[in-house]
Amino acid sequence: MKINENYLKLQDSYLFSTIARKVASYTAAHPERTVIRLGIGDVTRPLCPAVVRALEEASREMGTPEGFHGYGPEQGYDFLREAVALYYSSHGVTLSADEIYISDGAKSDLGNILDLFDADNRVLIPDPVYPVYVDTNIMAGREIVFLDANASNGFLPMPDDAVQADLIYLCSPNNPTGAVYNHAQLKAWVDYALQTGAVILFDAAYECFVGDGLPHSIFEIEGARGCAIEFCSLSKTAGFTGTRCGYTVVPHELRCAGVSLGSLWLRRQTTKFNGVPYIVQRGAAAVFSPEGRREIEENLRYYRDNARIMADVLREMGVWFTGGAYSPYLWLRCPRGLSSWEYFDQLLEQANVVGTPGAGFGRNGEGYFRLTAFGERGATVEAMERIRKMG
Ligand code: PLP
Repeated sequence: MKINENYLKLQDSYLFSTIARKVASYTAAHPERTVIRLGIGDVTRPLCPAVVRALEEASREMGTPEGFHGYGPEQGYDFLREAVALYYSSHGVTLSADEIYISDGAKSDLGNILDLFDADNRVLIPDPVYPVYVDTNIMAGREIVFLDANASNGFLPMPDDAVQADLIYLCSPNNPTGAVYNHAQLKAWVDYALQTGAVILFDAAYECFVGDGLPHSIFEIEGARGCAIEFCSLSKTAGFTGTRCGYTVVPHELRCAGVSLGSLWLRRQTTKFNGVPYIVQRGAAAVFSPEGRREIEENLRYYRDNARIMADVLREMGVWFTGGAYSPYLWLRCPRGLSSWEYFDQLLEQANVVGTPGAGFGRNGEGYFRLTAFGERGATVEAMERIRKMG
């Protein structure tokens, strides 16, 4: 028996465990201090009433002979696929419901999609980055080329004709940097992918934070249907981090070597996945109802207001940062030339605030720091006041 030795090439996922260890040892030594966490990207607002009602009704339905649902379609119930298609149409994107595949979240699909592609493919991944893109490709033994995102390109790297890749990851609004591509920038990526025959894996997990005409979806860009797959999630949109529901869009036109990627994905999902619970899909559909949209908009406004409060303080302090305007993440340059971990330690010890060291997201993250706007208002205001005082 041989194991998949690629797993041995993975770096220990030490980022959040190191943070947890440092915070635990600090709080054990200083139990009287209140530590505020603006580090991990989980949400704090509860599910909205329309979703809770839908979950309750679906649970009751499941307890009746007529309303019971057993195995469902692996790719999701039509009522949810159609609701998602309608949501896309509000951004001017026409999708057919059968191009939308419902899943238990974007993380699973981002990993699972790689089943469709040969291990010999070369992958282009921006750095700094959501670590899942890197680790899932290491597990499969793929060659990774990193694309530098840094202050000189506003953390929005653009295509380089000298670099050849088969799969390209883009995430906008970005985790961890909060940077957002505009239409012209995404068009350049789509043109590059069409020219080179690459497939773009577009992570739109934070699309709900986009405003001012910036693209919510890669499919707002002409030509994207021939070169892109999009991943999205209700985790941040509607507080589904614990309830679990997302969706992936594979357009009918998308073909590689004459083979439809949608049909491969359907084959993969029907073989290895048994669908999202009916109850959860009913809850997810309620997110897209007029009432649900109104209610989640209130939660999103709450996080956006947090981000604005945080951005105002950083601006006042003269700290360079990206994000915050159309994303729940603020990505700041560590003051006084500190390294990411030095700033982490100072913030923890002097301000009792926890953030995420940028170095944990890749080489270009060194010297930067991520704060999230997903906290409670009072704690967020207090944390920023402490950061301001620390300077
Ligand atoms: N993509 C990005 C960029 C994320 O930051 C996250 C979660 O933090 C995900 C995907 C995962 O989303 P889900 O909860 O739907 O698995």
